[in-house]
Parts: sequence; structure tokens; C-alpha cells
Amino acid sequence: AKNDHHHSGIEIFRTKFAEQATQRINLEHDLRPAIEKQELQLYVQAQVNNDDQVVGAEALLRWQHPKHGFISPAEFIPLAEETGLIIPLGHLIIEQACEILNNWQQQPETQQLTLAVNVSGRQFQQPDFVQGLLAQIKYHGIQPQLLKLEVTESVMVHDVDLVADKMNELQKIGVHFAIDDFGTGYSSMAYLAELPFETLKIDLSFIREMLTQPSMASIVRAMIQLAHSLDLKIIAEGVETQAQRDYLAAHGCDLYQGYLFGRPAPASDFLKSLS
Ligand code: C2E
Ligand code: MG
Ligand code: MG
Ligand code: MG
Repeated sequence: AKNDHHHSGIEIFRTKFAEQATQRINLEHDLRPAIEKQELQLYVQAQVNNDDQVVGAEALLRWQHPKHGFISPAEFIPLAEETGLIIPLGHLIIEQACEILNNWQQQPETQQLTLAVNVSGRQFQQPDFVQGLLAQIKYHGIQPQLLKLEVTESVMVHDVDLVADKMNELQKIGVHFAIDDFGTGYSSMAYLAELPFETLKIDLSFIREMLTQPSMASIVRAMIQLAHSLDLKIIAEGVETQAQRDYLAAHGCDLYQGYLFGRPAPASDFLKSLS
């Protein structure tokens, strides 16, 4: 009976493993047509200031798969990066983001809202990334100051000079940059001084532990001070409780994002939630 037990454990493991591999292949197979059919949609999540005003939003991609239901971007963005599908996907994201901003610009209540768009490493590394973005900004009549690009350290691992050139070119016309998931990668400090960032985002993993682990709270306070000493704005992501918000506010945080203020929602629902 003991052997049987072991045996079935291995079988279960094998089956699960095989399932995961199959699912992955299917996702790869399904992602390309999904992009063509525009089954992927940008949702938006509010970003608020210390006066409780919504000052902007982050665009977060959602894939409603016809068979598997909702699939997290944490799952398919890395896949898109590996397969090169991030290029057409990136175009779809920039286009939808510009459409949202264009809509916001039409109404007085929303025309000052900024939109933060996540840009992956490989997407940013495309030789025509800047040119493509400028064309979309122009085509949609976007005020470039309302567009924020969120990049992680993965953007900076290659040729930092080239990255700096591209960032500077976009910054010159008014596009802002935020460094995302700060503190979770490596050697981000030097980049903060070298590259034209406007905002630093504290990763939600720090916010989650902040009120239960004193060392995490220390790191959060240090990040806020670091950002301010470099003249950067600081935004906390993953804020879920009033206690977290109060603690962050007491230590000088500028902006907040998280379920406390609203979940990611379609841009049309977001507008309704504002009124
Ligand atoms: P991120 O840019 O750091 O986005 C923050 C993530 O935290 C989002 O997950 C958001 O839904 C989630 N979140 C927001 N508030 C809370 C909260 O209060 N509690 C908790 N537990 N989570 C919260 P999401 O939407 O699943 O996206 C995951 C990651 O996928 C993003 O992390 C980003 O790296 C990537 N991603 C999403 N959309 C895009 C995109 O359009 N392009 C690219 N390149 N990456 C994207
Ligand atoms: Mg982000
Ligand atoms: Mg983040
Ligand atoms: Mg994150």
C-alpha cells in the first residue's frame, strides 16, 4: 500500500506537469489570434493624491480567453516577450492607451488625468519604439505630458546609453517615466541618477508587509526619502487598507494606487466611478 501511495503521487505530479506544458502551448497558440481579434483590453486603475483626488490611472492589460476565461498578464506578458508577440501586443497597448487618453481629453472632468502604461523590456528595445509612439501620440492628438511610461529594471539590462537616448528623446516632448516594482530587481540605484525618471513606484510586496514587519517599514520610509532627495514623486502600489494609506501619508508618500481606491476596470466603468 505504501508503494502504491508513492506511485500515485508521482502520477499526479506527472499529470499536473503535462497539463501545465499543454496549457502553455495552447496559450502560445491562442495569443496571436487573440491580438488580431483584439480580445485583449486595457483596464484602468485609479491613482490618487493626498487630497483623495483621482489624478490619473494605470493601464493594465486583460485577456478574456474564450475557453480559459481571464488570464493574468503576469502569465502571458512573459510568454509574449519570449515569442516576440510582445511587438504586435505592444502596438495594441499603445493604441488603446492613446484612445483612452483621447477620450479623456474630450471632457473637462477628465482632461487632466494622466495614464501610466507598462512597457516591457523587449518592447522598449525595438529600434522603432520611439518613432511608433510619437506617431500614435500625433495621430490621436494626445498631450504627451499626460502619458507616463512605466518601466522595470528589465528595460535597463542592456545598453544603458541607448535606453537613456530613447528616454531623453521622449522626455523632451513631455512624456514622463516611472520606475516600476522598485526594489525588486537589481542595481536600480545608479539608474535613478542617470535616467530621466519622474516617479518611483514602491512595489506592492513592500506595502503588503509594511505594517507587520518593521524592516519592511524601514525600507518603505527609506525609498520615500530616496525618491524625494532625487526630486522624484513616489507612488505606492497595492494599497489595500486605510491603515497602510495613513502610514504612507505620515511618511510623505505622494500618490497611492490599490484596491482601497478601486480595482482595475474598463475605461468606461472608470469614468462612471468618477462621477
Ligand atoms: P504592475 O505594473 O506592477 O501592476 C500592478 C499589479 O498589482 C496589477 O496586477 C494590479 O492589478 C495589481 N494590484 C493593484 N492594486 C492592488 C492591490 O491593492 N492589491 C493587490 N494584491 N494587487 C493589486 P496585474 O494587472 O495582474 O498585472 C501584473 C503585471 O503584469 C503588472 O505589474 C505588469 O508588470 C504586467 N502588465 C500588466 N499590463 C501590462 C501591459 O499592458 N504591458 C506590459 N508590458 N506589462 C503589463
Ligand atoms: Mg505598472
Ligand atoms: Mg508595479
Ligand atoms: Mg508589481
